[in-house]
Amino acid sequence: MATLKSVCVYCGSSDDVKSDYLRLAQDLGRTLAQKGIRLVYGGGGVGLMGACARAVHSDGGEVLGIMPRFLLQKERVFDEVPHEIVEDMHTRKQRMFDESDAFIVLPGGIGTLEEAVEMLSWARLGLHAKPMAFLDEDGFWTPFFELMDHIIDGRFTPQEFRATLVHEQTPEASIQALCDRIVKLGD
Ligand code: AMP
Repeated sequence: MATLKSVCVYCGSSDDVKSDYLRLAQDLGRTLAQKGIRLVYGGGGVGLMGACARAVHSDGGEVLGIMPRFLLQKERVFDEVPHEIVEDMHTRKQRMFDESDAFIVLPGGIGTLEEAVEMLSWARLGLHAKPMAFLDEDGFWTPFFELMDHIIDGRFTPQEFRATLVHEQTPEASIQALCDRIVKLGD
Protein backbone atom coordinates (compact mmCIF):
# COMPACT_ATOMS: atom_id res chain seq x y z
CA MET A 1 0.00 0.00 0.00
CA ALA A 2 1.37 3.42 -0.97
CA THR A 3 1.92 5.94 1.85
CA LEU A 4 2.37 9.67 1.99
CA LYS A 5 6.01 10.29 2.82
CA SER A 6 6.77 13.49 0.88
CA VAL A 7 4.43 16.27 -0.16
CA CYS A 8 5.32 18.86 -2.77
CA VAL A 9 3.89 22.27 -1.84
CA TYR A 10 3.32 24.91 -4.53
CA CYS A 11 2.75 28.40 -3.15
CA GLY A 12 3.35 32.10 -3.63
CA SER A 13 6.78 33.72 -3.36
CA SER A 14 5.43 37.17 -2.46
CA ASP A 15 5.74 38.57 1.08
CA ASP A 16 3.42 41.42 0.20
CA VAL A 17 0.25 39.41 0.88
CA LYS A 18 -2.35 39.16 3.67
CA SER A 19 -0.73 37.78 6.82
CA ASP A 20 -3.43 35.08 6.94
CA TYR A 21 -1.87 33.47 3.86
CA LEU A 22 1.58 33.39 5.47
CA ARG A 23 0.04 31.96 8.64
CA LEU A 24 -1.71 29.23 6.67
CA ALA A 25 1.62 28.30 5.05
CA GLN A 26 3.17 28.11 8.52
CA ASP A 27 0.30 25.99 9.82
CA LEU A 28 0.76 23.61 6.93
CA GLY A 29 4.51 23.41 7.67
CA ARG A 30 3.86 22.60 11.33
CA THR A 31 1.31 19.94 10.41
CA LEU A 32 3.74 18.29 7.98
CA ALA A 33 6.49 18.24 10.63
CA GLN A 34 4.12 16.82 13.22
CA LYS A 35 3.05 14.02 10.88
CA GLY A 36 6.60 13.22 9.79
CA ILE A 37 5.86 14.10 6.16
CA ARG A 38 8.75 15.66 4.25
CA LEU A 39 8.19 19.01 2.54
CA VAL A 40 9.46 19.25 -1.04
CA TYR A 41 9.28 22.80 -2.37
CA GLY A 42 10.93 25.40 -4.56
CA GLY A 43 13.69 26.18 -2.06
CA GLY A 44 13.00 29.86 -1.45
CA GLY A 45 13.10 31.83 1.78
CA VAL A 46 10.47 34.32 0.63
CA GLY A 47 6.68 34.51 0.80
CA LEU A 48 4.57 31.48 1.64
CA MET A 49 7.45 29.25 0.47
CA GLY A 50 9.76 30.57 3.19
CA ALA A 51 7.00 30.60 5.83
CA CYS A 52 6.12 26.96 5.21
CA ALA A 53 9.73 25.70 5.01
CA ARG A 54 10.82 27.57 8.16
CA ALA A 55 7.88 26.16 10.10
CA VAL A 56 8.72 22.57 9.07
CA HIS A 57 12.39 23.10 9.93
CA SER A 58 11.83 24.78 13.28
CA ASP A 59 9.45 22.00 14.32
CA GLY A 60 12.08 19.36 13.52
CA GLY A 61 10.62 18.18 10.19
CA GLU A 62 12.37 17.31 6.97
CA VAL A 63 12.62 19.67 3.99
CA LEU A 64 14.02 19.42 0.48
CA GLY A 65 14.27 22.63 -1.55
CA ILE A 66 14.90 22.68 -5.31
CA MET A 67 16.18 26.03 -6.51
CA PRO A 68 17.25 27.13 -10.00
CA ARG A 69 20.64 28.85 -9.96
CA PHE A 70 19.39 32.09 -11.53
CA LEU A 71 16.82 32.57 -8.72
CA LEU A 72 19.22 32.01 -5.81
CA GLN A 73 19.31 35.70 -4.91
CA LYS A 74 15.81 36.70 -5.91
CA GLU A 75 14.06 33.91 -4.01
CA ARG A 76 16.69 33.91 -1.25
CA VAL A 77 17.37 30.19 -0.99
CA PHE A 78 16.64 28.83 2.49
CA ASP A 79 20.03 27.23 3.09
CA GLU A 80 19.43 25.86 6.60
CA VAL A 81 17.75 22.83 5.00
CA PRO A 82 18.90 20.34 2.36
CA HIS A 83 18.52 21.86 -1.09
CA GLU A 84 19.51 21.16 -4.67
CA ILE A 85 20.64 23.85 -7.10
CA VAL A 86 19.42 23.08 -10.60
CA GLU A 87 20.03 24.81 -13.92
CA ASP A 88 16.52 25.67 -15.07
CA MET A 89 12.83 25.85 -14.16
CA HIS A 90 12.00 22.68 -16.01
CA THR A 91 14.51 20.64 -13.98
CA ARG A 92 13.18 22.22 -10.79
CA LYS A 93 9.65 21.09 -11.58
CA GLN A 94 10.79 17.61 -12.61
CA ARG A 95 12.84 17.16 -9.41
CA MET A 96 9.97 18.39 -7.23
CA PHE A 97 7.71 15.90 -8.99
CA ASP A 98 10.21 13.02 -8.68
CA GLU A 99 10.74 13.58 -4.95
CA SER A 100 7.08 13.74 -3.89
CA ASP A 101 4.07 11.44 -3.52
CA ALA A 102 1.37 14.12 -3.73
CA PHE A 103 0.86 17.90 -4.06
CA ILE A 104 -0.69 20.68 -1.99
CA VAL A 105 -1.39 24.03 -3.65
CA LEU A 106 -1.52 27.04 -1.32
CA PRO A 107 -2.50 30.53 -2.48
CA GLY A 108 0.00 31.91 -4.98
CA GLY A 109 0.52 33.70 -8.27
CA ILE A 110 1.36 32.77 -11.84
CA GLY A 111 4.25 30.50 -10.82
CA THR A 112 2.08 28.53 -8.41
CA LEU A 113 -0.70 28.22 -10.96
CA GLU A 114 1.70 27.13 -13.69
CA GLU A 115 3.28 24.43 -11.52
CA ALA A 116 -0.10 23.06 -10.38
CA VAL A 117 -1.63 23.09 -13.86
CA GLU A 118 1.37 21.34 -15.38
CA MET A 119 1.03 18.50 -12.86
CA LEU A 120 -2.72 18.32 -13.58
CA SER A 121 -2.02 18.14 -17.30
CA TRP A 122 0.46 15.29 -16.73
CA ALA A 123 -2.22 13.49 -14.69
CA ARG A 124 -4.76 14.09 -17.46
CA LEU A 125 -2.33 12.48 -19.92
CA GLY A 126 -1.98 9.46 -17.65
CA LEU A 127 1.68 10.18 -16.88
CA HIS A 128 1.12 9.98 -13.12
CA ALA A 129 -1.58 9.39 -10.51
CA LYS A 130 -0.21 11.50 -7.64
CA PRO A 131 -3.10 13.31 -5.92
CA MET A 132 -3.34 17.10 -5.54
CA ALA A 133 -5.23 19.20 -2.97
CA PHE A 134 -5.86 22.95 -3.23
CA LEU A 135 -5.73 24.50 0.25
CA ASP A 136 -7.17 27.86 1.28
CA GLU A 137 -9.32 29.21 4.11
CA ASP A 138 -11.05 32.00 2.19
CA GLY A 139 -12.03 30.51 -1.16
CA PHE A 140 -8.87 31.83 -2.85
CA TRP A 141 -8.95 28.93 -5.34
CA THR A 142 -12.73 28.99 -5.94
CA PRO A 143 -12.34 30.88 -9.27
CA PHE A 144 -9.96 28.14 -10.43
CA PHE A 145 -12.59 25.49 -9.66
CA GLU A 146 -15.20 27.61 -11.48
CA LEU A 147 -12.88 27.74 -14.49
CA MET A 148 -12.49 23.96 -14.36
CA ASP A 149 -16.31 23.56 -14.27
CA HIS A 150 -16.54 25.89 -17.28
CA ILE A 151 -13.95 23.85 -19.17
CA ILE A 152 -15.78 20.62 -18.27
CA ASP A 153 -19.15 22.16 -19.32
CA GLY A 154 -17.53 22.87 -22.69
CA ARG A 155 -16.56 19.18 -22.82
CA PHE A 156 -12.85 19.96 -23.21
CA THR A 157 -12.08 17.87 -20.12
CA PRO A 158 -14.17 14.90 -18.98
CA GLN A 159 -16.44 15.18 -15.94
CA GLU A 160 -14.54 12.35 -14.20
CA PHE A 161 -11.47 14.58 -13.98
CA ARG A 162 -13.36 16.97 -11.65
CA ALA A 163 -13.55 14.27 -8.99
CA THR A 164 -9.76 14.16 -8.84
CA LEU A 165 -9.59 17.85 -7.84
CA VAL A 166 -9.76 18.40 -4.09
CA HIS A 167 -10.40 21.75 -2.39
CA GLU A 168 -9.85 21.85 1.40
CA GLN A 169 -9.76 24.49 4.12
CA THR A 170 -7.28 23.08 6.64
CA PRO A 171 -3.86 21.45 6.43
CA GLU A 172 -5.23 18.40 8.28
CA ALA A 173 -8.10 17.95 5.80
CA SER A 174 -5.76 18.39 2.82
CA ILE A 175 -3.35 15.77 4.09
CA GLN A 176 -6.21 13.40 4.93
CA ALA A 177 -7.64 13.84 1.40
CA LEU A 178 -4.24 13.02 -0.10
CA CYS A 179 -3.82 9.97 2.16
CA ASP A 180 -7.29 8.68 1.20
CA ARG A 181 -6.47 9.00 -2.49
CA ILE A 182 -3.00 7.52 -2.20
CA VAL A 183 -4.41 4.49 -0.37
CA LYS A 184 -6.98 3.97 -3.11
CA LEU A 185 -4.32 4.21 -5.80
CA GLY A 186 -2.06 1.84 -3.90
CA ASP A 187 -4.76 -0.84 -3.46
P1 AMP B 1 4.47 32.78 -7.71
O1 AMP B 1 3.23 32.00 -7.39
O2 AMP B 1 4.39 33.52 -9.01
O3 AMP B 1 4.92 33.63 -6.55
O4 AMP B 1 5.61 31.68 -7.95
C1 AMP B 1 5.78 30.64 -7.03
C2 AMP B 1 7.02 29.86 -7.34
O5 AMP B 1 6.88 29.24 -8.62
C3 AMP B 1 8.29 30.70 -7.42
O6 AMP B 1 9.31 30.00 -6.74
C4 AMP B 1 8.60 30.72 -8.92
O7 AMP B 1 9.99 30.81 -9.15
C5 AMP B 1 8.09 29.36 -9.32
N1 AMP B 1 7.87 29.22 -10.77
C6 AMP B 1 7.34 30.12 -11.63
N2 AMP B 1 7.30 29.63 -12.88
C7 AMP B 1 7.83 28.39 -12.82
C8 AMP B 1 8.12 27.36 -13.79
N3 AMP B 1 7.82 27.52 -15.08
N4 AMP B 1 8.69 26.21 -13.34
C9 AMP B 1 9.00 26.04 -12.05
N5 AMP B 1 8.76 26.96 -11.09
C10 AMP B 1 8.20 28.12 -11.47
